[in-house]
Amino acid sequence: MTLKISLNRPKLKKAYIYLFSLTEIDFNKPSIYFPPINSIFESKQKVRIMKKAVFPGSFDPITLGHYDIINRALPLFDQIIIAIGINADKKHMFPLEKRMDFIKKTFVNEPKISITTYQGLTVDYCLEINAHFLLRGLRNPADFEFEKAIAIANRKLSGIETVFLLTSAETSFISSSIVRDIMRNNGDASIFVPKNVLV
Ligand code: ADP
Repeated sequence: MTLKISLNRPKLKKAYIYLFSLTEIDFNKPSIYFPPINSIFESKQKVRIMKKAVFPGSFDPITLGHYDIINRALPLFDQIIIAIGINADKKHMFPLEKRMDFIKKTFVNEPKISITTYQGLTVDYCLEINAHFLLRGLRNPADFEFEKAIAIANRKLSGIETVFLLTSAETSFISSSIVRDIMRNNGDASIFVPKNVLV
């Protein structure tokens, strides 16, 4: 194990080693980020690390549930990247361009939010763009059970933390698949999606 610490201050160096000992992280991975070090930097060196979160998903289409989670996350992060995972094997109702367009329209006045696409492992994408957090929304215990295993695997793989936010009671029943079902059967799904989506 090689641990490169190029800091002159012994106290800070000690704090690093202590924090490393608290993590489950594999030190051999090169581009690992250690969230607790943020606070050391902020307080001692006045260097601020940007808090970037990736919100991955299919967004087929974006719903008021996604919208609720993103709005709740806005005060917590400096930047939120809504990232549509491209999976050639998955069938979608809306083409990629349309899904991106819906999201762009929804957050047109929100400078903290950007929209992008990625392929491959979500954590690899996070490391590539230097994002330290993954954002996921929870509707119910089933979501939690499913997401928990993925979050732990992601942390083991990369050191990236997943931040879970609970949706509001009013949007906890909404899913993209319900919206798609309504639309397939010629129903009006507009009350389940942000304004300007599906129009
Ligand atoms: P995925 O295919 O990754 O599940 P989705 O677009 O369905 O992609 O969901 C992306 C994220 O949004 C997930 O974290 C999911 O739990 C969350 N999400 C979806 N619907 C809701 C909702 N109604 N309330 C809160 N979170 C939601």
